Amino acid sequence: MDNPLAEHFKRIGFRKWYERQLLSSHAHMVLAFLSVIAVVGAMEAFRTSEGDTQLANVLFVVLCAAIGAWAMRRYAFLLMRAEQAANQASCPDCGDYGRFHVVGHRPRLQEIDVRCSRCSRGWIFSTQP
Ligand SMILES: [Zn+2]
Repeated sequence: MDNPLAEHFKRIGFRKWYERQLLSSHAHMVLAFLSVIAVVGAMEAFRTSEGDTQLANVLFVVLCAAIGAWAMRRYAFLLMRAEQAANQASCPDCGDYGRFHVVGHRPRLQEIDVRCSRCSRGWIFSTQP
């Protein structure tokens, strides 16, 4: 199976996958926040430094800003993907949330065929970004 999302759903189930996505995305948000603190600290240190130390502070600001931007982007991506999946996780018939199993997938359309674990109703789960 070449759809990573379908593989995760099969292996650990939707609910556990969703929980892990939220934890991972918020860890990236914390990293972005720490990067902002590091940028401010390096800017403050820049004011009192001279010569090579100033250059090191500038490089540190650039590095921390890049890490912060990457972490913020990753946070948004993981959160949006988790929310997109969560919006499709309820059974159309019985409304049971997150309790389904994967029965197949369509790689070209980036869709997963799932079936409700409670009432056996099938529906299509889109994994397109
Ligand atoms: Zn159902």
